[in-house]
Amino acid sequence: MAVSPFFRSQKDRAPAGAAMSGPEAEHRVVQVIVEAIMDHRVAPGARLIERELAIASGASRSAIRNGLMRLAHAGLVELSPNKGASIAMCSPDEARQIFDARIVIETAAVKKLAGTIGEGELERLRAFVEDEREAYERGRMEDARHLSRRFHVLLAEMAGNDVLTGVIRDLINRQPLLSWSRPETEPRFCGNHAHSEIVEAIASRDGERAAHLNMEHLRALERELGAERAAAMQELRSAQAADGPDGNARQADESPVVD
Ligand SMILES: [Zn+2]
Repeated sequence: MAVSPFFRSQKDRAPAGAAMSGPEAEHRVVQVIVEAIMDHRVAPGARLIERELAIASGASRSAIRNGLMRLAHAGLVELSPNKGASIAMCSPDEARQIFDARIVIETAAVKKLAGTIGEGELERLRAFVEDEREAYERGRMEDARHLSRRFHVLLAEMAGNDVLTGVIRDLINRQPLLSWSRPETEPRFCGNHAHSEIVEAIASRDGERAAHLNMEHLRALERELGAERAAAMQELRSAQAADGPDGNARQADESPVVD
């Protein structure tokens, strides 16, 4: 039997028993799908099968439905009356809007942080970037990618604005939907050097420079994702054509582009 993309191994299955409902169950549904997207276990456009989600999350039908609605609201899932739920596919225009929004919001966060950061936080940021560098160097790609995304959320958290932090997290969660890449491809884009430069600009309390460096970093990432997206979408279409109308696209679990 094919392994569901919603758990990495059989041990991730929810314990057998009555299906859970309520906010906790909905949160579990959201978590299962977001993690599968983040780890590139589900492709943009892939259909979400209720039975698989029920097994992975242990959630009831209504909790699954509510979880999917929350994800649709965050732009991660598309709900269609005919086709049901599927992983969202971002158009090039949506991709540009996501990066425009990130630049506006992260500029505000980075400038604020440069004005308020203390020595302890600075030390923590430097240690964080060092961990990230080490993860790339040692080829721990899943950790490295996670840390790279987390870096931007951490800046917003340290800037002390929970609303901005939530918005940045939602925007970053959509990023895997902008590209889809083959597992065997080596990463081409690594933001670790840019992250280090941004931290040093913040350390010298130069908010303008930190924000400018962050903007250039995000634009570079956007260009890289855009180029990959074109190739990846072509491949996805070929895979879907090869699998027939009801087949799921071949699953991949690595992306060459990381932020
Ligand atoms: Zn980055």
